Parts: sequence; structure tokens; C-alpha cells
Amino acid sequence: MIREFTCIVCPNGCEIRAEIQDGVLMSMTGHTCPKGESYVKQELTDPRRNIATSVLVKGGQLLLASVRLTNPIPKDQIFAAMEVIRGLVLTAPVEAGTVVVKGILGYDSDVIVTKSV
Ligand code: SF4
Repeated sequence: MIREFTCIVCPNGCEIRAEIQDGVLMSMTGHTCPKGESYVKQELTDPRRNIATSVLVKGGQLLLASVRLTNPIPKDQIFAAMEVIRGLVLTAPVEAGTVVVKGILGYDSDVIVTKSV
């Protein structure tokens, strides 16, 4: 079976065509660095995604502070992680780099602020 992927590891977004047999990567084209192969293998076994979103801030000049995860988490846990993040309300001042959730859902991934408010 041929499957197509858009590598999301870097902004190049290489379009990859991969030949998969019984869930195993046989060959691939379109990637321009070795990370593309690692990405496809991870997609086949344990697809992961990052989250970049915003949380409410009380008492600041802006209503929202942008946040992201420090490491991607399993794709099927994204909605559960978003529920946790949606429940956050921060109080200004909030500094970029502050960890606001340590180890979200038990994964090795923190929610950190990416913009000071
Ligand atoms: S294959 Fe390499 S260059 Fe292409 S998007 Fe992935 S990481 Fe970037």
C-alpha cells in the first residue's frame, strides 16, 4: 500500500510517499533529511502531536496568553489535553517559559507559556 504523509517535523513540510506492507515501512521518497523517515515510522506506530493554543489570563493587558506543549503527546490524547488546558485561568503577570501544567495527563510533556502577559 502507498501512503502519503506531510512531514511536520520542520517548516519545510516535505510531501512523502511511503510504501507500507503489513504496517512496516518498505521504502519512501520525498523526504529531504533522515528525520522524515523517523517521522513516518512514528506515524505508523505511535503518532504524536503538539498543541499550541491560548489560556485565559486575569488582570493582564491581554486576555490570553499563548501556550504550547514541551513534547508531543499521543494523537488520540489531544482532546483530553485540550480539556485540561481549557480549564486553566492564569493571573498576570505571566512570564514566557513558565510551566503551568507539569506532565500533562501523565506524559513527559509540560504546558508552558510562550508569550508574557
Ligand atoms: S523530511 Fe526533514 S526537511 Fe523535510 S519536513 Fe521533515 S524534517 Fe523537515
